[in-house]
Amino acid sequence: MEHPDYNSPLALKAFLDGNGMAMQKKFGQNFLVNGDARRRIVDALDIDGSKNVWEVGPGLGSMTAEILSRGASLTAFEIDRGFARLVGEFFADEAARGKFRLVEGDVLKTWKGELEKSGVPDRFFGNLPYNVAATIVADTIASGVRFEKAVVTVQKEVAVRMAADCGSGDYSSFSVLCRWAYRISNVADLAGGNFWPVPRVASRAVLMERRDGFPGCANPGLFMGMVRQLFSSRRKTVRNNLARLAGTDSGDVISSAGIDPSSRAESLSVEELLALSDKLGEFLGRIGDGKN
Ligand code: SAM
Repeated sequence: MEHPDYNSPLALKAFLDGNGMAMQKKFGQNFLVNGDARRRIVDALDIDGSKNVWEVGPGLGSMTAEILSRGASLTAFEIDRGFARLVGEFFADEAARGKFRLVEGDVLKTWKGELEKSGVPDRFFGNLPYNVAATIVADTIASGVRFEKAVVTVQKEVAVRMAADCGSGDYSSFSVLCRWAYRISNVADLAGGNFWPVPRVASRAVLMERRDGFPGCANPGLFMGMVRQLFSSRRKTVRNNLARLAGTDSGDVISSAGIDPSSRAESLSVEELLALSDKLGEFLGRIGDGKN
């Protein structure tokens, strides 16, 4: 089956009309209709014939075609049944050669099954709706899965939050999670006009490169829970936010990590938070042992 012209909104619309389909807002469907931008984004993925890639949300397969043209093997996760059917037809030859597989359904429900079947892929890729982007990044990290490299295109504000450092108003528990596991850098800024339909918000493609020395703390689960707690009330001090976990001793636990208990979570670097979670872990262990 012939691919539509991926750079022409008119051709894409005609193609969908011809197949009795329409773009669905609820799935965050906006196609990247700028071929140069597609190439630049896939360049950042740094792939060749030896790499296998997971792509979330192939849509009608414009990025899929670009990735496959570099020789990589690709598994695509698509929730829209119509797109899934068409993409399956477009890349039937690649599928027959073992270079392409399609996993239909919500990636948030299907990725773990795929992981069990085929292991962690070399690369993760997606031009993603906001809620899916934040959830899949958080879910994979929480499950101890980190990709060597990932390139995601997300709403610009989400990209800013992913890369935000302590002291910035954009620094959040999601920033901590992303910066803990990855080095984040910008690949491309994409104004709404690069997409069809034109979204109201600008997007940014970011490169995520696996950090060495992960997890950098004794108990990743405790670290993540503590970070969520510390950022739950941004205006409260670290002492007050930690009191839920460490009770009246929270000030001592924080001081023992070399941190001022009256500081706020947004001023603490990932390294300071890791050190704090270790001190908290020791404290909770002592309580558990009855030695406090
Ligand atoms: N890759 C195409 C491009 O860049 O032009 C389309 C990107 S479009 C922004 C997002 C794609 O993700 C759509 O194909 C949409 O159907 C798919 N999608 C949305 N939510 C999903 C989910 N939970 N699981 C899998 N795919 C999803």
